Amino acid sequence: MRAFESQLEELQHNDLFRDLRVLDSAQGPEIRIGDETLLNFSSNDYLGLANSPTLREAFHTAIDIWGTGSGASRLVSGTLAPHRDLEAALAAFKGAEAALTFSTGYTAAVGTLGAILTKGDVVILDKLSHACLIDAARLSGATLRVFPHNHLDKLEDLLRKTREKHPPSGDTRVLVVTESVFSMDGDRAPLAEIVALKEKYDALLLLDEAHALGVLGPGGRGLAEELGLSARVDLHMGTLSKGAGVSGGYLCASRPIIDTLINHARSFIFSTAPPPAVAATARRALEILGSEEGDRLRERLWSHLARLQTALDRKEPLESAILPWIVGEPARALELSQKLRADGFLVPAIRYPTVARDAARLRITLSAAHTAAQVDALAAALREP
Ligand SMILES: *Cc1c(COP(=O)(O)O)cnc(C)c1O
Repeated sequence: MRAFESQLEELQHNDLFRDLRVLDSAQGPEIRIGDETLLNFSSNDYLGLANSPTLREAFHTAIDIWGTGSGASRLVSGTLAPHRDLEAALAAFKGAEAALTFSTGYTAAVGTLGAILTKGDVVILDKLSHACLIDAARLSGATLRVFPHNHLDKLEDLLRKTREKHPPSGDTRVLVVTESVFSMDGDRAPLAEIVALKEKYDALLLLDEAHALGVLGPGGRGLAEELGLSARVDLHMGTLSKGAGVSGGYLCASRPIIDTLINHARSFIFSTAPPPAVAATARRALEILGSEEGDRLRERLWSHLARLQTALDRKEPLESAILPWIVGEPARALELSQKLRADGFLVPAIRYPTVARDAARLRITLSAAHTAAQVDALAAALREP
């Protein structure tokens, strides 16, 4: 039997070993690790809500009313009023008929694909889709097809071939899966074109807006809303753990799709409901996203992104709050990350299997909670040879 030690040594040898970094302060633009203070450019707390006074207060208040645990799965007795209220708020926010929340975005993906697809169905994913979508597709039992990142011709090829074999008049469900903002590259999907293709070939579309919620579109409603395409996306997925600063995954869709999830999504059925206070706090976060305060935070975030673009002499504007700094070799990414850490910056090295073997990188994320001076300091450190 293979020994764990030698397997781990191989990771070490290939600069792919990972260990946990413990923060001794709350999530924010400035964090503490032991006695080191670092500027944090690693989190997905894009609007700085994860430690905001408003959400802290909402959480405290909700705990006083609802306690800490939910006691059971949602279908047993774990659905509390805050869960229902959050789902109503989410559906309204995304302009969908209904919504369902899960403990995390990961379990939302796994539950959803498992519920709507079965053996014989076909799921077509962008190559750079998040691991939870790939795992979800595999677990669903459907036939898995992958198109190169944002490659519309290849997507159309796959759709055409699939529909030649399984005409729309039959029972085969065909699901296209993509993200509005790709988590490790920060670029966007060509959503208008993808929507047109999925309609042409009578497929469903699941759009994961994990890195767009709070960041893109009017009120932070995401890319589909920014492009006026919300009504043509069948399944809107996302997480409340990033731009919204709390926790929990969601799926917004038509009533029949949501009822299908309630009846078939195993990660929903066989898991205890998230704490009601988390749901209540997430609902408050959605209010912030859609408010003038949300607009102010987004303005600040986008002004930081423009500032970083200029400071780094990049021609193209950033498409999201994520800037990949691709270096290739894992060892090089680790070295750069360590050098930045010595200079007082937390910028993680992202390596295989999160990204391709030869595409290791630093993943830099900005937040509205940063100051302009902090963004300038990062740009100066990145420009050093
Ligand atoms: C983070 C992420 C998820 C998972 O969300 P969690 O709430 O963190 O489980 C799903 N999809 C994408 C694209 C993500 O980046």
